[in-house]
Amino acid sequence: RHDFDVAALRAQFPALHQTINGKPLVYLDNAATTQKPEIVIEAVNRFYRHDNANIHRGVHTLSGRATDLYEASRAQIQSSLNAAHSDEIVFVRGVTEAINLIASSFGQRLVAGDEILISALEHHANIVPWHLLGTRIGTVLKVIPVTPAGEIDLDVLPRMITARTRLIAVNHVSNALGTINPIKKICRIAREHGIPTLIDGAQGLPHGPVDVQAIGCDFYAISGHKAFGPSGVGALYARRPWLDELPPYHGGGDMIETVTFDAVTFAPPPAKFEAGTPNIEGAIALGTALSWLADLDHVALAEHESALLAAATQQLGEIPGLRFVGQARDKAPVVSFVVDGVHPHDIGTLLDAQGIAVRTGHHCAMPILKQLGVSTGTVRASFSFYNTFDEVEALARAVRRAQTMLT
Ligand code: PMP
Repeated sequence: RHDFDVAALRAQFPALHQTINGKPLVYLDNAATTQKPEIVIEAVNRFYRHDNANIHRGVHTLSGRATDLYEASRAQIQSSLNAAHSDEIVFVRGVTEAINLIASSFGQRLVAGDEILISALEHHANIVPWHLLGTRIGTVLKVIPVTPAGEIDLDVLPRMITARTRLIAVNHVSNALGTINPIKKICRIAREHGIPTLIDGAQGLPHGPVDVQAIGCDFYAISGHKAFGPSGVGALYARRPWLDELPPYHGGGDMIETVTFDAVTFAPPPAKFEAGTPNIEGAIALGTALSWLADLDHVALAEHESALLAAATQQLGEIPGLRFVGQARDKAPVVSFVVDGVHPHDIGTLLDAQGIAVRTGHHCAMPILKQLGVSTGTVRASFSFYNTFDEVEALARAVRRAQTMLT
């Protein structure tokens, strides 16, 4: 069914090989964060053992080495996202900071009454920064509706665009439901109206190659920890003219050309957006993670992930009283579900007792769960290519057992 060696892949992930409550760990919380391959863990370790120094400012050898590694990682991210230039890549803490950066910096071009268009399927990271901007300057947040299956209603989108629409910001893949959104089409519609686009790629990058030029977006945000890299580091891709035009987000060292007490001139991008000492080892190890990912067989991984999704959908679907939340036609390997008469947290707790890690609750996406009639949240099992069919079976078995115990 799949022509790659899951066992060999799993062997590279130390954290997958442990027992939890006496049972082998079944890690199905990959949408929250993925586990890390040895090579990434080693990259962090090696940096502190051999290369640790601050970047960009030193004339000494270690600083040069750290800077080279840091910039090589930027080039790797450029390559992984197929950006045209490495200076279109800004290191940030993750998607949350990337969107806050845009809301703050791009936000300075906006005035009261200007409209930001998001979808009903967004993570709080792509909702709350727009609330904050609205409170500050009076921009208006408008929401593209989502169908009961959990798909963005593309027919409605063109009608929601007005002369005041300044930005369309949507996610590539929904973390709550797994829906893969038609971002190419959304970006095309936006371009036809001369409106820039911001894609939240937190859940896009871990499930297949990303090509920002083919997508046709202006901004694309990623989080390292969702794509086998370290926590607390990510990147914002921005099409080149934007980084020249937009004002800086944070001020401090490393982002300036000259400073006096009266005035400051800024370094060219991307440095202009990278004030202060960054997460150097994280940035470097993110490059390692993406280079490792790029060397895998993407067709085989995608086939394996769809087969896992199909198996989970089938086996869980046979459980009486279980209802899937979100059944988009195009989905990442994520199943979100509720079981009649049982609180999701209770299922999650009983699954953990059997070594199975899932997420329960609202998945930082309260509005869409509310729309779909789920007040207590869902149980979410999110797969990665290192998961196995045995783990799918263990999940279905454990959900049945939890259901029996709780009803
Ligand atoms: N958007 C989506 C779709 C996500 O899944 C997440 C993480 N759950 C975020 C944004 C925020 O990412 P981070 O916490 O890494 O900043």
